[in-house]
Amino acid sequence: MARLRDGRWRVVVVALAVLAGAIAIAGRIATGQAADNLRDGALAALPLAAGTLTGEIEKQRLVPLVLARDDAVRGALRRAGTMEEAALNDKLRAIAGDASASAIYVIDTAGIAIAASNAGEPTSFVGIDYNFRHYFQEAMAKGAASQYGLGTISGRPGLYLASRVDDAAKPLGVAVLKVELDRVEANWRSSGFLVFVTDERGVVLATSQPEWRFRALAPLSAQDAAIAHEQLQLADAGFEPLPLRRGAGDGLATIDSSGKPRQFVEVVQDLPGAVPGWRLWLLTPADAALSSAANTARLTTLLGLLLMGLLAFVLTRRRRARRLRQEALARMNAELESRVSTRTAELTRSNTALAGEIAERENAEAKVRRLRDDLAQANRLSILGQIAAGVAHEINQPVAAIRTYAENAGRFLDTGKIEPVSGNLTSIVSMTERIGAITSTLRTFARRPGVAASPLPVREAIDGALSLLSGRIRDSGVTIVKPRGSASPVVMASRIRLEQILVNLLQNALDAMKDQPDPRIEIEIAERDDRVLISVRDNGPGLGPEAAGNLFMPFQTTKEKGLGLGLVISQEIAQELGGTLRLDPGSAGGASFTIDLRRIE
Ligand code: ADP
Repeated sequence: MARLRDGRWRVVVVALAVLAGAIAIAGRIATGQAADNLRDGALAALPLAAGTLTGEIEKQRLVPLVLARDDAVRGALRRAGTMEEAALNDKLRAIAGDASASAIYVIDTAGIAIAASNAGEPTSFVGIDYNFRHYFQEAMAKGAASQYGLGTISGRPGLYLASRVDDAAKPLGVAVLKVELDRVEANWRSSGFLVFVTDERGVVLATSQPEWRFRALAPLSAQDAAIAHEQLQLADAGFEPLPLRRGAGDGLATIDSSGKPRQFVEVVQDLPGAVPGWRLWLLTPADAALSSAANTARLTTLLGLLLMGLLAFVLTRRRRARRLRQEALARMNAELESRVSTRTAELTRSNTALAGEIAERENAEAKVRRLRDDLAQANRLSILGQIAAGVAHEINQPVAAIRTYAENAGRFLDTGKIEPVSGNLTSIVSMTERIGAITSTLRTFARRPGVAASPLPVREAIDGALSLLSGRIRDSGVTIVKPRGSASPVVMASRIRLEQILVNLLQNALDAMKDQPDPRIEIEIAERDDRVLISVRDNGPGLGPEAAGNLFMPFQTTKEKGLGLGLVISQEIAQELGGTLRLDPGSAGGASFTIDLRRIE
């Protein structure tokens, strides 16, 4: 069993107490309502029960009155002991039969019955002395009387209705009718209710419960008992109280019959039409109705409260679940936030580290740039060294030849031969031209510093180079195919330097296609990522593998008047612009060179 904390036990105990209290209250309310319903039914039945009784009595009440004025009755009383009594007996029998009275009889002033409806029968009243009867004395005194009592002869209960028979001024006797109320009582019994009549002292008279007859609602005082004895003329009646207990103010009566108490709803009414002082009581059984109403109400309340409890339980559970969910969510949020802040801190750290690395890398790159510049400078110096050596070699020859031509010219002059001198001088001029060509090329190469790079659309450089060579192109009959479209990527370069490379490439192509039947040069611009590729392709003889291998070496030339410096210088300029110049491999049927530069737009 789950252990409950003290607080919970208290809640459970209080809940059970509330439940029990609510069930008890619901039972009580339902019982009250059921009792009210029963009372309504009883009140509705009460006039019927009363009507049955008063109807029976009223039906007979006139009979003694009428007999009191009947001449035959008077005659018989006047002349007592004559034959008229026999005729009267017959008449009384006939009336009693018609009125369904149990007996009608006539008593003389001495109290002796002189005629009766039951004359001649074993239980005949004729000759019986009724002087002691209360009804006789009261009727004689007052003119009319009624008395409930037991028959002297029959011993059966009934209501005696008596009327005095008067002759002129003096009384002759009394006419009496006895109504036995068996039918009324049987009618009450069959109604299912418990019905009885009490006199003014509370003694039960007519009743659907014969054993209650002559018992009292409450113990009679000695005085009341004496009066009751006198009026009812019951010698041995004890007037014991009924086995009936009244509830305190709830209108319920309890009957203790055979040890088992049964509850009844009790209603009562006066019977003014019947006999003065009579009251009619009607009791209706209430046990079944009350207990079923109480049980239904208790069950309904229990179910209702259980349902409410269940609902409260479910709601509490749901609220708790929601609270737990929210707490979990809050925890997750907090965790997430802490993770985010941790991660942010990590990222900040790694950002800082990255920034450091970037700075380091920039430093390193700057260092590399410096190194590359140094290297380029060294390279340039080395090329310069090679060129200087080449130049020395190239110039030495013409200088030595010039010297030889000059010495020979001197000797010719000494010997007076003028003609060969002119030939020698022409050769000397051509030698100096050769030297001039070498130095002018070197001047171009040396012109590098001082030309600032700026954003340059490559088309402009291409157009510039083509216009510089326009005369030669026209003469050579070469078809120039310019780049398609109008796109002109921009590179960072000095226009003159880029034109120098292009002019050199175009000149080489023109040179290579001198004897070509259908010479053609295609210039293309391509963009790949952040690079701009300018290629110059011809359909000349191209280059063999060996020539291609030594292409960018100074003084490698196949031309008669070539210096073998153009490509070396062009490649140097391309590198200076942050790019490269290369021979495209495998270009079939001609040579193709590509200048590769960085695009800036
Ligand atoms: P030069 O033009 O003075 O010879 P370059 O360095 O410009 O010096 O060229 C070197 C050599 O490369 C040329 O002599 C030539 O043999 C070869 N060459 C260059 N361009 C081409 C070309 N388009 N077709 C064939 N050979 C070429």
